[in-house]
Amino acid sequence: MLNTDRRTVLKTLAAAAATPLFTAATRPAAFVSLAEPKLPYAENALDPVISANTMGFHFGKHHMGYFKKLTAKIQGTAMESQDLNAIISAAHGNDQGLFNLAAQTWNHSFYWQSMKPNGGGMPPAALKAALEKSFGSLDAFKEQFSKTASSHFGSGWAWLVADGDSLKVLSTSDAGTPLTDGLKPLLTIDVWEHAYYLDYQNRRADYVAAIIDKCLNWEFAAQNLAG
Ligand code: MN
Repeated sequence: MLNTDRRTVLKTLAAAAATPLFTAATRPAAFVSLAEPKLPYAENALDPVISANTMGFHFGKHHMGYFKKLTAKIQGTAMESQDLNAIISAAHGNDQGLFNLAAQTWNHSFYWQSMKPNGGGMPPAALKAALEKSFGSLDAFKEQFSKTASSHFGSGWAWLVADGDSLKVLSTSDAGTPLTDGLKPLLTIDVWEHAYYLDYQNRRADYVAAIIDKCLNWEFAAQNLAG
């Protein structure tokens, strides 16, 4: 690595340490590791909502592709021993290429956990109460989440986040993450075309509805809210 690159890395790390983007409240403990990503279930576990074919490409090629490029890019730098959140924080606003790889690695790990076989249904009581307080009703949350995910222009992510005591729905473009706005992610849906095109072609709304009805991992969201 060139000395100028090394200086840039050190400079960005120092800047990040001086103004941390993440607090304990916005740092989900399960996702700070830079370990090799793993699917939390078999490739066919979410079929037919998400086929094994889609899962194979999405996890094996897209997610692992981001992870491999990320580890190659930081090899031999001080970032190698940092956790993923610290790399996202250091790269944000300083190195768009590095930010994209780190955030896409994080976002995909979070997305797999946001779903589970036989998901959907009713959230745990505390989360249900929080959703009702912020959105009026569970159905109103689902409608807003679905609408936000379906109508997001271009590639990106739909999120349920905690902003202090209130829950919000928002979308981010490309590799964007609510972490950089100091928000705590609870759930996400990948709305890049690679997430649904093999199974749903252009019908993104059908993909989103199927996840919300059949695969949403409410327990994961509840853990993130409480954690
Ligand atoms: Mn994706």
